[in-house]
Amino acid sequence: MSAGTGRAAVMSEYGADFEVQEFPTPTATAGQLVVEIETATVCGSDVHAWQGHLALPVDPPLILGHEMTGRIVQIGDGAEVDSVGQQLAVGDRVVWAHVPCGHCHECTVERQPVLCSKRFIAYLTSCAVPPHFTGTFAEYGVVRAEAGRVRVPDAVESGWASAGSCALRTVVRAMSLAGPIDTTDTVVVQGAGPLGLFATAMASLHDPRKLVVVGGPEDRLELAREWGATDTVLVDPAGDPADRIEEVLRVTGRGASVAFELAGAPGAVSEGVAMMARNGRYVVMGTLGGDPQPINVATLVTRGITMVGSMSGEIGDYHVAMQLLERYRDRFDWSRMLGNTYGLHQLADAMAAMRRMEEIKPVIDPRLHPTREDHT
Ligand SMILES: [Zn+2]
Ligand SMILES: [Zn+2]
Repeated sequence: MSAGTGRAAVMSEYGADFEVQEFPTPTATAGQLVVEIETATVCGSDVHAWQGHLALPVDPPLILGHEMTGRIVQIGDGAEVDSVGQQLAVGDRVVWAHVPCGHCHECTVERQPVLCSKRFIAYLTSCAVPPHFTGTFAEYGVVRAEAGRVRVPDAVESGWASAGSCALRTVVRAMSLAGPIDTTDTVVVQGAGPLGLFATAMASLHDPRKLVVVGGPEDRLELAREWGATDTVLVDPAGDPADRIEEVLRVTGRGASVAFELAGAPGAVSEGVAMMARNGRYVVMGTLGGDPQPINVATLVTRGITMVGSMSGEIGDYHVAMQLLERYRDRFDWSRMLGNTYGLHQLADAMAAMRRMEEIKPVIDPRLHPTREDHT
């Protein structure tokens, strides 16, 4: 279609500044969509990949970014409907998923494509080869033929959909693994980042007796209370985990009947196990690397705790996430999670702000160009 080029922020070296490069505008082949990236949001995984700390194979040079809302500019043959049967047209907005192989035991027998060990994760693969637009810190994106994709409802802002395409879809899957939450439950959410805040909002819809968020800093706990936390426990990096455990046991009366680990901090799971009530259900999501941490197995046994790991989500979870963003947009001000907006040339600043925990979720708008002030 267009013979032009599009810009992308390229990472050639871990931790170094990104270089904005131009690549030929992609063309949609069968099953593909080509989109203009409206908004991309920064995920902790992008920051880990940039730092070289991601526990997944990474193949630089990379265009990072995997949370995005794209506006369709080209529809390949056969891509006229999304993964849940909704019609797609040029100009519609979509979010999309990583690509499972479709042929392994996990994909087929287990029917858990999210656990596929050969899952194609575009933003961790080299952008040196066509179609180049692998990650979403770029002007264009390519939705691969095998990638699940869903249309973004009109009432859902692009920044919300972008955050929802990673953090909320992960929470949607975790909530279904946790099983039903009811009014007698005492729910504990460890972590007050994007995942923790979405989990808080989603758990609050079930009106549990207690909904305790353990995290920080204080401004995030304030948002957690706005989104339904009945109590919050500040994690002071210099604090003693034993005090936090005691506080959770005191507030809940019997510990967490349902808990979600979304902190990823060293020792978070050791601490979470100690916060559990008898017959509790504990979904662990935040810890994807780092040093091994001890957990008290006798606590698991004697309290009858069910513990399950979860990461990412299936395309159906993306669809549910978009519906939740639309349905509860008056109850939760989703924009409160979003930080400042940066251009591609400011990506390193956005990542650094996230690392310093100054922003919950920085927003990248690829259409922003450098101005004179950026160079002074
Ligand atoms: Zn992510
Ligand atoms: Zn597979």
